[in-house]
This record gives sequence, structure tokens and C-alpha cells, in this order.
Amino acid sequence: MTLPAGQPTRSCATELVCHHCELRLPLMDTTFRCMGCGRVFDIDYDYELAKTRLGELPTAERAVNIWRFEELLPIKAAEAKAHVGINSGRTPLIHADRLGAELGLRKLYLKDDSTQRPSLSYKDRVVSMAVARLLELGKEEIGCVSTGNVGTAVSSLGAKAGVAAYVFYPSNLERGKARACRALGATVIQLDGNYDEANRACRELALASGIQFANITLRPFYAEGAKTVAFEVVEQLDWVSPDHFVIPAAGGTLSSRVHKGLVEMEKVGMAATAATKIHIAQPEGCGPIATAVLDGTGEIVEQRPKTVAHSLAIGAPGDGPLVVDAVTSRGGSAATATDDEIFEALDLLGSTEGILTEPAGGTTVAATIKLANEGKLGADDTVVAVISGNGYKTLDEHPEKPWPEMVACEVEAMEEVLGEFRGGRVGATSS
Ligand SMILES: [Zn+2]
Repeated sequence: MTLPAGQPTRSCATELVCHHCELRLPLMDTTFRCMGCGRVFDIDYDYELAKTRLGELPTAERAVNIWRFEELLPIKAAEAKAHVGINSGRTPLIHADRLGAELGLRKLYLKDDSTQRPSLSYKDRVVSMAVARLLELGKEEIGCVSTGNVGTAVSSLGAKAGVAAYVFYPSNLERGKARACRALGATVIQLDGNYDEANRACRELALASGIQFANITLRPFYAEGAKTVAFEVVEQLDWVSPDHFVIPAAGGTLSSRVHKGLVEMEKVGMAATAATKIHIAQPEGCGPIATAVLDGTGEIVEQRPKTVAHSLAIGAPGDGPLVVDAVTSRGGSAATATDDEIFEALDLLGSTEGILTEPAGGTTVAATIKLANEGKLGADDTVVAVISGNGYKTLDEHPEKPWPEMVACEVEAMEEVLGEFRGGRVGATSS
């Protein structure tokens, strides 16, 4: 579809920029990697104009979705924006008093993107920007390479925008997520390789086929969607930026763009955010960014992923250097978790806060536990842990939990079995 040249949004985006080479291109250019150094372009804004425009429209009159502070988002065509993400964003910030009591953190909050619309992960934020950009370019097909959640987001948001979606999964996919993409009408193509191999092949395919890929060719725009987490959390805390964010990292988009969002809020006078630390959560079996932070080198060394947290299984993180910079410049840290620790933390979150997350969320909680035990999070500090995905999508991948054999449908037999469990006298019997 080609959109009519209609109303512009309030976006103050100006150019594509490579911060490394200081190379700049017009915003409508479709080059996504710097010709000088190969890094992905960033989006630059006119922050003075943003300051003015932000002041013109009271917060109370703004959209309650990801477009709330569209001055700091990169989409210019109102018609493109109108088709995407209208019900995305504004997920709850939950005071996790019961989990916090277990961890010794009185002000622990969960940014619960497991309830994100339409596809139950934080990826709806970034893919919304990518699809809006696709419409802005007048294209009708979108591809993506996905560990799971990008695929469901592209399928959902692509369907609503009326574009064809092609989802490329690595060999070790989470079946439920791939099946969801099919149910949403997308074409699913599984590749015989891990995520990093699939990602490299898809980069070539994008150039060969001319299909725009949400997290490859549209990446400068895609990444901007992650800033909305920072905008929302600070507003939900009454414009007081938290002492700490704990954020799961795969490619590193979320943590690096939360950092960018915080910097921008300070720049345009929305909130004082300079003291906020960002800590990274990664699985032990795939922690190239955490390793670079913890060993103090800052050097990302590619790893071959081996983890139950499939949505974090990216061994060559595209935004890794940006994350290291975000973490170290803010005095943050990192923690890794084993597969067992990930599932224990996932269970603890479920039994204390009633939130069923996927292994990526378990990784965040496990890392929060470690950071608290190491004294990196103070008992009275405000800590925001980002729960990025939903456990109902990955339940088939979680360890079996036994329950009793089938019981006769009569009160006596039921009371007998129930008696074994009440008061915690036994755990569960074998299934
Ligand atoms: Zn460059």
C-alpha cells in the first residue's frame, strides 16, 4: 500500500546517524548499516524542538499507548502510525511486595511486558515501530529472523497492518511460538542453523529479495520502540527515575535503548535520570554481554548458545557494544543464571506474584536475586525488573511438575488425596 502524503506526526526525528563515523543520512534513506564502519544506524532528533512540542500537549491529553511521546519516536507519517501499535504499550508496573520480601528489596517493581498487546512480549514495542516504518516506505511484505517473540509480534502486527509476514526461525525454536505465527497467518520457515547463523543468512536474503526485515533492514526504527519502556516506567513512578533497571539481554536492543530513552528524558527536561543504573541479565549458557561487563574488558566475544532461555540465545549480540557502554557509563553491572536457577526463579515469581513468565523472565528474576545478594541493589532502592515475555507461550518447554494420579470423582477419595497436600505435609506425589 502506498500511503497518501497526509498529516505528519509530532515526531522530531531528523536523520539517520552513525555515532562512530558521524556519518549522516536523510531519515527516508533505507540504508541500515553505516558504509564506513558497518554499525547499525541510530536515529537522531531535534531535542530543542522536542522540548517545545512536548510542552505543547499536556500528558493527560496524550494517547495511552506506545505513541504517547511520539515526539521522541521516528515515524513521521500519521497514516502509517494509525495502523500499528494503537493497543501496544502501557503495560503495568507492579509493586512486587511478595517477591521483594523474599529478596530483601522493599521497592521491587516488575515492568510486566508479558501482558503486552498484541503478542504478549516486549517485542510488540519494537516491531510496532518496524511495521509503521514499513508502511511509511510503502512496502507490503515484512520478514524477520526470530528466536520466538519477534516472530509472533511480526505475525500479529503484520496481520493488522495488512502486510504479508515471513518468519525465519533457527533450528532450536520454541514450537508454541512458531505454531502461533502460522495461526496468525504468517509464513514460517525454519532454518537448519542457530539464531546467529540464521541472522547472517537473513541479512543476505533481505538484500537479495528486497524484502524489508523488521530486525535487520528496519533495525534503526525497530530499536527506537524499546525506548518506550523507559518513558513508561519513569512516568509510572511519578516522574522519578528508578535507582536500578534489571533487563534481560539477547541482542541488546532493550537495555541499550532504555539507556537512550533515559538520556533523552533528561535532555528534554522530562525527568532527572542520570543516576539510574542498568544491570543486565543473561543465561550462563549464552552471556556474551554479561561476560564482557563482569570481566571488565568490555569486549564482546561471540558464544555458541546453550540455554533453556531460547529468546535470549543470541551469541553474537548486534547491540552488545552499546549495552556495555550503557551499563558501564551508568555504573551498573550484570549477572548470569544457570538453567536450574532460571526455572527456580520463574517458579518463585509465579508463586509470589502470580505471574507466569518464560525462561527469559526467569533469567531476569534470577539475576535480580544475585545482584541483591551481592549488595548491588540496596534494600530501600527502587528496582525495576523487566519481565519481557509470557510463560503461557513456552509452558511446553518448562520442566514437568507432577500431580496426583486421577482420583475417583467422589468426596471421600478426594478428601484423602487432598489431606496429603493440605498444610504442606507432602509435596506432590508422582504423576
Ligand atoms: Zn559508521
